[in-house]
Amino acid sequence: MLLAIIIIVVVLTIFVIYPLLSTRDEDKSVLPVDVTPAADLKRRRMVVYENLRDLEFEYKARKLASKDYEALRDSYKAEAARLMVASQELEHSTAEDRFIEREVATRRERMRDKIAESYACKKCGFNNPIPVKFCGNCGTPISDAKAKSSDE
Ligand SMILES: [Zn+2]
Repeated sequence: MLLAIIIIVVVLTIFVIYPLLSTRDEDKSVLPVDVTPAADLKRRRMVVYENLRDLEFEYKARKLASKDYEALRDSYKAEAARLMVASQELEHSTAEDRFIEREVATRRERMRDKIAESYACKKCGFNNPIPVKFCGNCGTPISDAKAKSSDE
């Protein structure tokens, strides 16, 4: 009976809370800035370091047997090392992403230069940044040979 009541309460809670949470998520639609994977890894590493410091303190206060202390210390250090590696891998991958973004931006710029060259206005000299039939500045028909060939 108690179990049934608990289940009902849990189900009701989910049905009441979940819509509230989901509408709030829709309003925000983005995560808070400080909950990036990098920040999360750093926060977890800080927690491990804090635990290590507490452990050290407890050991010095003779609250811990040296065997327990060593086992705990080793596991904390392993965890800190694991988090550090994960942080470095993440940093490396974002650096790679930035490199790719830069490459794409450069290529896009080159493409834009090419278009501007092809669709330059002979009357006013304006470099139309997008393929156009008429100059965006003065309205003169663009009759560039390159523009025609790519148009037809
Ligand atoms: Zn023009």
